[in-house]
Amino acid sequence: MSIVLGAIADDFTGATDLANNLVRAGMRTLQVIGVPQTALALDDVDAVVVALKSRTCPVQEAVNDSLAALDWLREQGARQLFFKYCSTFDSTDEGNIGPVADALLERLRATQAERLRATQQERLGSQHTVMVPAFPINGRTVYQGHLFVGDRLLNDSGMQHHPLNPMTDADLVRVLSRQTPHSVGLLARPILAEGADAARARLKSLGEQGVRHVICDTLDESDLEVIAAAVAEFPLVTGGSGLGQALPAEYRRLGWLDPVADPGRLAPASGAALVLSGSCSQATLGQVEDFLSRHEGFALDPLALAESDEQIEQALTFARERLFDEESSAPVLIYASAAPEKVKAAQHRLGAARAGELVERALAGLAKTLVTEGVGRLVVAGGETSGAVVSALEVTELRIGEQIDPGVPWTQTTVDGREAPLSLALKSGNFGGVDFFSRAFDALPGEKQP
Ligand code: ADP
Repeated sequence: MSIVLGAIADDFTGATDLANNLVRAGMRTLQVIGVPQTALALDDVDAVVVALKSRTCPVQEAVNDSLAALDWLREQGARQLFFKYCSTFDSTDEGNIGPVADALLERLRATQAERLRATQQERLGSQHTVMVPAFPINGRTVYQGHLFVGDRLLNDSGMQHHPLNPMTDADLVRVLSRQTPHSVGLLARPILAEGADAARARLKSLGEQGVRHVICDTLDESDLEVIAAAVAEFPLVTGGSGLGQALPAEYRRLGWLDPVADPGRLAPASGAALVLSGSCSQATLGQVEDFLSRHEGFALDPLALAESDEQIEQALTFARERLFDEESSAPVLIYASAAPEKVKAAQHRLGAARAGELVERALAGLAKTLVTEGVGRLVVAGGETSGAVVSALEVTELRIGEQIDPGVPWTQTTVDGREAPLSLALKSGNFGGVDFFSRAFDALPGEKQP
């Protein structure tokens, strides 16, 4: 059986966010890291999300990687393609949203034209696409083409100071027009309020006028539902993870997707439970403190790591003594997370990049060793930290399970040196409630069998 949805996400955590929403809306979802080099078993998979690192890389690289992902997803039979970017439309005047969307449309148009049996909808849909960044439950809405974060316009939300892609203009029609030579239009809220037929008709007429990209207003969930109903048969849609929440119901309506009782079901978890934290975000600091009030932890210090590997050895001894104790299944924490003044002091002595690298290298190495020795349930805190751990473990695909807290699901993967699947939860920055680290393990079905 072929997959229904194939998504191309421009970063790792964004991919997980979309995958999480797809599972919640009833699709069995696999996240792959980069375009797979080997064949995958996709018999019980409805959606695949390919995680790229194309948000801030050079335009041509983003285009090439996205096209490779598109080709692979189409080979897997994806009925609809979804280009996923951030709900704050993270991009610059050079790209990468516009150029990637243009390239994907060109490729689809070329192949649709070859297919005599393409339906009229497919032929028309491959000429243009929608841009739906909004995620209303997270406060990202769009009105008259202007993106809001909570009650602030995008350019007044803090995003104007983003180090890589400062967003200094909230008017997405204007923002996107700087990234593409093609015409950009707007599907405005008054039309959405009339329902899916009106939205469909408007999209059709914009397409006939040669509009290539249509920015969609979205005030709430019901707007997303109307948009999803209007675009479910487009070969390509683009947007944030909010749209991913609304599409699966349309696939069921179209008969493409059967209802699935438990789309986030994972194999029973086994193995010792470890938390690795390299995040210094405020929410993480609270989670570390809460965890230490219930269980044991070991603190890493970049200044000591800069001197020698002695602290890594101490952390290993600490973890081994507790994790592989037959009497106890309590989770253990190893963390570098520290309050801002401590982080600043370390950065002052070592430089921010070196301090970060030392911590990431230490946590990634600990993950590799301890997973080989019997850790089977692993929570990692920190976006960069997660990236380092995932690459040390050479993870290439993640089956997406139930959500622990908004945006953070349990996942499962296979890794070298471990027969049973590894359960992995990757939590970036400010996600998760204060008791996230301990609650995560309670939310994971399965027994500890080291
Ligand atoms: P978040 O998702 O919270 O931003 P990240 O893992 O993406 O977390 O980023 C945190 C960065 O801070 C990482 O590069 C990590 O190695 C680094 N770091 C962690 N602890 C310390 C510390 N005590 N001193 C300096 N840098 C640290």
